[in-house]
Amino acid sequence: MKRIYLDYAATTPVRDEVVSEMLPFFKNKFGNPSSIHLFGREVKPEIEKARERIAKTIGANRADEIVFTSGGTEADNFALLGIIQANEGKGNHIITSSIEHHAILETCHYLEKKGFEVTYLPVDKFGLVDPDSVKKAIKKETVIVSIMQANNEIGTIQPIKEICRACKEKGVYFHTDAVQSGGILDLNVSKLHIDLASFSSHKFYGPKGIGALYIKKGTKMSSLIHGGHQEKRRRAGTENVTGIIGFGKAYELASREKKKERERLKRLRDYFIEGLFKNIGDVYLNGHPEKRLPNNISISIKYVEGESMLLNLDLKGIASSSGSACTSDTLEPSHVLKAIGIPLPLAHGCLRFSFGKWTTKEELDYVLKVFPKIIKNLRKISPKKFK
Ligand code: PLP
Repeated sequence: MKRIYLDYAATTPVRDEVVSEMLPFFKNKFGNPSSIHLFGREVKPEIEKARERIAKTIGANRADEIVFTSGGTEADNFALLGIIQANEGKGNHIITSSIEHHAILETCHYLEKKGFEVTYLPVDKFGLVDPDSVKKAIKKETVIVSIMQANNEIGTIQPIKEICRACKEKGVYFHTDAVQSGGILDLNVSKLHIDLASFSSHKFYGPKGIGALYIKKGTKMSSLIHGGHQEKRRRAGTENVTGIIGFGKAYELASREKKKERERLKRLRDYFIEGLFKNIGDVYLNGHPEKRLPNNISISIKYVEGESMLLNLDLKGIASSSGSACTSDTLEPSHVLKAIGIPLPLAHGCLRFSFGKWTTKEELDYVLKVFPKIIKNLRKISPKKFK
């Protein structure tokens, strides 16, 4: 059976060039970068090379503004908890949006239990945060604002330039979760005056379990993981050497190719959306029609249920996601769909396709051929409540 992967927002395969660069560090060059003998000395510069590659890609002024983490989740936790702990005297208020990833939202819930105050800004029907609402929500107790660059479920791209400007005017830290967008959108942390930004390698053809937090020099920040002197004491623990090297290579390749890839993916995305609208009735696009990730298609289809579509597509060898991969084990409509005000029956019929490097028009034509038949069959057996 033909297998078609359209879930690149969940994760991506590691590129061959990345694997080749990582391989020597599993066996031959296995040294601990902290060791002062030759085995360690030959590894340490490779970590620094990766750090420089990543710093350059995001426009950081210095390589040591990049701190490696175990992925996007840890980077998000680090950003909020590290700032809050280090700036306790400054205030106890955090601002975020209602459609952030759970890595941010759950950290905020944890902080609320500890007595901090969190403002969850609403979004409009497209999932956009209004920069003015950020400005209005900032008060003297506010320490940090965290708004993602692009949403993982509906693909909406936030006006982070304007949001960041509002934070600078008011003198509060600004963090952006760039996990979903880092490999495909431009982000220049220096030009935008961003204080903190989270990245994860497995979203752009690098290995899983490795990410980074950009921390602007001078930012008052506490560590969360204590132990050795690694990462200039900001994140203890023997480095994930192969992961870091793969991350560096993957990010360099992604940044070199992203302009062209963005255009290619946009064409495929728009072709696919048009095909869906032509071949299926009662289908709605979630998120912003233009300000959206070039590889994201989040749709809601009336009278069918997301999980059933997903399973039926899977039987045809097509991988997609019902809402967000991170919440697809629950039947509750996701917090993102709720926040943009999608009515319940439509929220239940949500499906996300996300494209990537190996997505072709031929693959999409195949999906456009089988998907309407799946919908037709499901609608035949659809319970009354959907009708
Ligand atoms: N933030 C966003 C926007 C994401 O999409 C994800 C993962 O899907 C994460 C954070 C978590 O990243 P990781 O899987 O590297 O922990």
